[in-house]
Order: sequence, then structure tokens, then C-alpha cells
Amino acid sequence: MDKQQEFVLRTLEERDIRFVRLWFTDVLGFLKSVAVAPAELEQAFDEGIGFDGSAIEGFARVYESDMIAKPDPSTFQILPWRAEAPGTARMFCDILMPDGSPSFADPRYVLKRALSRASDQGFTFYTHPEIEFFLLKDKPVDGSRPTPADNSGYFDHTPHNVGMDFRRQAITMLESMGISVEFSHHEGAPGQQEIDLRYADALSTADNIMTFRLVMKQVALEQGVQATFMPKPFSEFPGSGMHTHLSLFEGDRNAFYESGAEYQLSKVGRSFIAGLLRHAAEVSAVTNQWVNSYKRIWGGSERTAGAGGEAPSYICWGHNNRSALVRVPMYKPGKTGSARVEVRSIDSGANPYLTYALLLAAGLKGVEEGYELPPGAEDDVWALSDAERRALGIQPLPQNLGESLTLMERSDLVAETLGEHVFDFFLRNKRQEWEAYRSEVTAFELKNLLPVL
Ligand code: GLU
Ligand code: MG
Ligand code: MG
Repeated sequence: MDKQQEFVLRTLEERDIRFVRLWFTDVLGFLKSVAVAPAELEQAFDEGIGFDGSAIEGFARVYESDMIAKPDPSTFQILPWRAEAPGTARMFCDILMPDGSPSFADPRYVLKRALSRASDQGFTFYTHPEIEFFLLKDKPVDGSRPTPADNSGYFDHTPHNVGMDFRRQAITMLESMGISVEFSHHEGAPGQQEIDLRYADALSTADNIMTFRLVMKQVALEQGVQATFMPKPFSEFPGSGMHTHLSLFEGDRNAFYESGAEYQLSKVGRSFIAGLLRHAAEVSAVTNQWVNSYKRIWGGSERTAGAGGEAPSYICWGHNNRSALVRVPMYKPGKTGSARVEVRSIDSGANPYLTYALLLAAGLKGVEEGYELPPGAEDDVWALSDAERRALGIQPLPQNLGESLTLMERSDLVAETLGEHVFDFFLRNKRQEWEAYRSEVTAFELKNLLPVL
């Protein structure tokens, strides 16, 4: 037994913890949990806990359904919203096959594989997400419009603001689980919040995002509201992005940074961005995985009104240009040695493990092959005409899930990074979603066509 495992067992006793939840994530990004009694844990560390994988989205076929969840003791945390004593704790798990080999269906393993490819080249991958979501008064299930929990706007600070109390409690809870928060504020739409996590290695970030979503839903319920990470719940308000800042480190040196270079961006940084751009369309099915995701990434630069709400719709990069898919944030004087790039396409409904694995693979491909970075877009690309964008070589992002899936299907990069199992399952599952969506006659059609046809 190693030190971390011993620490977990000791803490269970000292803190009178009676339930330990073993967490993992399915291919679509939903959190799964199985509770074990502390007495079982020593064995769980050794051999893992068996479960029926065929019951989990994307995990196993029925004839090979036995799978094993093996807890990662470094992720041990006490759940602050359960009673103090007896308490409840959680650990993230790695998923194994009955013979003890890692399961190719486990999104955490997909990310671990991508990270170890990077580390073979001497790189560690750091990420820092800005997570947007809505607080709603209700979550109607009959397809009717939800009601935002407040009426505030961007950075608003008003008395009796639901969002403010909410953010205070939510952040306290995150911090007590070891998740540091950097900023938080009210976002542009009524009910919309943003909380930015401090940067961490990509595996910790992905685990933290899974925890974050649960904590937000939990705190919302305690305050009599509901949280949603749906990418675009309202036609007339901006959607919820999960912009993520990325950087590569070599040891403790930021590999994107070069003093005196344009935007302080090294050659590695420039080729990494070139990789993100060249492969942006084929990874869209994962960074924007729901039919609803595509309602967010089109249309406009207004933060508060209009459909787009500062989500990118074109494949380009820029310096401090919020219409760009990849933005190189303003260099902070005094913060020498630091450089990062912000990817703005990702939405809050994405599976963070698969998303970060693909962004890393796309960027690294650019570095390995020495891709040239095209010129940055310094204009508002939404304001240009199609012809002007064409002249600048700026392509649109896929416009719907169907288009994204067609591009993904042809992508060697996505197939290799996700591995055959996840790649095939994902395509099959998402084709079904797209077909179900296409076959539905919508309220839009009935409203606009029935009266005139
Ligand atoms: N809500 C916008 C989006 O969907 C982002 C607004 C911002 O720049 O933070 O991406
Ligand atoms: Mg924001
Ligand atoms: Mg941002």
C-alpha cells in the first residue's frame, strides 16, 4: 500500500466517513458513481471494484460487460454538502478490463494517453477553464422555455442578487474540495454565471470540471434554483462557453513564451496554434458535441443581445480579438515567462477529458510537423462579408452536428487520439442524435410555415 492510499484509509477513520463514492465519466461526459463501504476500500485499491460496463453509455458491449473501477487515491476529497459525520468522500477512478489492462472506453484513459505522448516529447499540458452556465428558476421537461433565476447582466453587482450568494457558496465549496477559483462574475445573459478555475495539469482540470458541474447543481438546488450547462438554452441570449487557456511547459519553463517575440509567443506556441486551427473543424464534434451546441457558435459579436454572444464561428486566431476561435490574450506586463492561448469554441456541455485530449493532439501535431501560423485576424471577423473572409482564407466552423460528424469520420487525428472504441461509439451515438433531431418538425417551422403555406 502506498502513502496516498494509507492517507485515505486513515482519513476515513479519523473523519468517520461511512461512504466512499467512486466516480468516473462515460463517453458522453456524464458523471457516474458507485458507493463502497470503507471496509471494501483496501481491496478496491488493490483490485478495483467490479461493475456492469454494459449499463454505462459507451463502455462495453453486453457480451463483455465486466469492468473494474480502480480508485485514484490522489483525487480523494470529502464531499462538503453531505453531513459532517458520518461523512461521504469521493475518488475518481480509472476503468480497467477484467485482466487488469486499462479500458479503451474510459475517457480519463484517452486523456492520459494524449498526455503521455506529450510527456514523451518533454511537455506538460496545463489548462485553465472559464466555465459559463445558467441559473434557472425551473427546468421544464415538456420543451417549454425555462425562466432565468435573475435579471442581471455582465459584471452586474446588485443587492439581493441570486447569482452573488450562489457564487459565494459555490466557490467556498469548490475551495474546500481543493479546487481553486480565479475569477467569478455574472455573465452577459440573465441568470448566466461564469467561474474560472485556476490553471492546473489537464487531467486535474478535467476531474475538476466534472466535480464543478456537480457542485454547481448541488448548490443551486440548496438555493431553490437549477443550474444548467446546456450550451444554448435561450434563442435570444448568448450561450455558455467553456473557453480554455492552454499552455505547454518544459520542466518549469513555459514553452509558449519567448521574450521579445511577437506577442511573446515562441515557435512552439505559434505551431501549436496552427495545429489547433488546422484541426479545429474535425474536432468540433467533440468540443461541441450536442445538436444544441451549434446554436451557440454562429452569428455575432454582441455580448448581451443577438444570437452569437461572442462565441466564435470562424476558424482564425487573433490577439485580443474576441471574435477569433483562438485568442492570444493581452500580455501582462510584469508577468514575464508566461504565455498562453485561449480556445473559445468549446462549450460547457463538452466531455472535458476527450476535449483536452484532442486539443492537445491537434496542437502537438502542429509542433511536430512545424505548421506555419497563418496571419492573425485583427478585424472583427463577424463584421466581414463572406467574400472578404474568403479572401483572407478564413473558413467557417461546421454549422451543425451532422457536418461535424462527417469531418470527424474522415479524421486520422481524432481516430488515433480517441482510439477505435471511443471513436466508433461516439460517431454511432451522435449520428443517432443528429438523425433524431433532423426528423423532428420544430416550433419554428410550424410558426413560420403553417400560416403561409
Ligand atoms: N458566452 C460567450 C460564449 O458563449 C463568451 C462570452 C465571453 O467572452 O466570456 O462563448
Ligand atoms: Mg465569459
Ligand atoms: Mg474567455
